[in-house]
Amino acid sequence: MKIVDHRLYHDNGEPYPYQETPNKRGVIKPRYLVMHYTAGSSAASAIRTLTSSRARASAHIVIGRDGKITQLAPFNIKTWHAGKSRWKELKSLNSHSIGIEIDNAGPLTKVADGWKTWFNKTLDSSEGIEAIHKLQKRSKGWQIYPEQQLDALMELSELLVTEYQLEDILGHEDIAPKRKQDPGPAFPMEEIKARVFGRGDEDEQEITYEVVPEDGLNLRSGPGTRYDKLEGSPLPKGTRLEVVGVYERWCEVEVLDVVNGEMDLEGWVGSRHIKRV
Ligand SMILES: [Zn+2]
Repeated sequence: MKIVDHRLYHDNGEPYPYQETPNKRGVIKPRYLVMHYTAGSSAASAIRTLTSSRARASAHIVIGRDGKITQLAPFNIKTWHAGKSRWKELKSLNSHSIGIEIDNAGPLTKVADGWKTWFNKTLDSSEGIEAIHKLQKRSKGWQIYPEQQLDALMELSELLVTEYQLEDILGHEDIAPKRKQDPGPAFPMEEIKARVFGRGDEDEQEITYEVVPEDGLNLRSGPGTRYDKLEGSPLPKGTRLEVVGVYERWCEVEVLDVVNGEMDLEGWVGSRHIKRV
């Protein structure tokens, strides 16, 4: 994948699908990437909405659950995805960011044999997780982001961050916390940041992570629950980690603290259960 004149192309020069939105105005120099979920029923319906002048909303990219990427505006043109928003010294992040809409239903309701979306579609139990949103107190259901979708998103994010020298990746929930809860707790933000920003810069200060769950986090010999639990498991809440590798939704870590008298523990943890300190 590559960018030519603010448009996305495959390496062989073939353009990615492009459906221009009328909901855009003015040239920007983006500094951030902002992640959203569509809270809709399909990528096609999101594209229809975001390219309709009545919607007065848009984004630069829509990514389907199958990983299909559609571009709606050149990356250097302002689109309308963030609304009233703030990050550090900046207000109205539309003027400073590239917006990506990811096809995902958002919050789910538990039903007998799985989950139900707000638009009354029933999902298999494996399509949702129960989690507490970082801005909320109670746990609820959230639709997962499939691997194909995340793979496409990661490749695109790496390209955009490099091409536009973006400073950080943010969630809509980070820049409009009173109004928004997307992309939500099912979204592996730390894993994506680790992959996009975490490589190469050996001289830079390492980023430290910590264990989030109250009841601790298992350290495993590989990236999956099928791998053995290692000595030190479960790592207590607050244990400090350094991420040294990433595979799908798992991070390979070095444990920075002494746990149960053990130093220099290494292994894999679920990326959802750690956060940047
Ligand atoms: Zn959003």
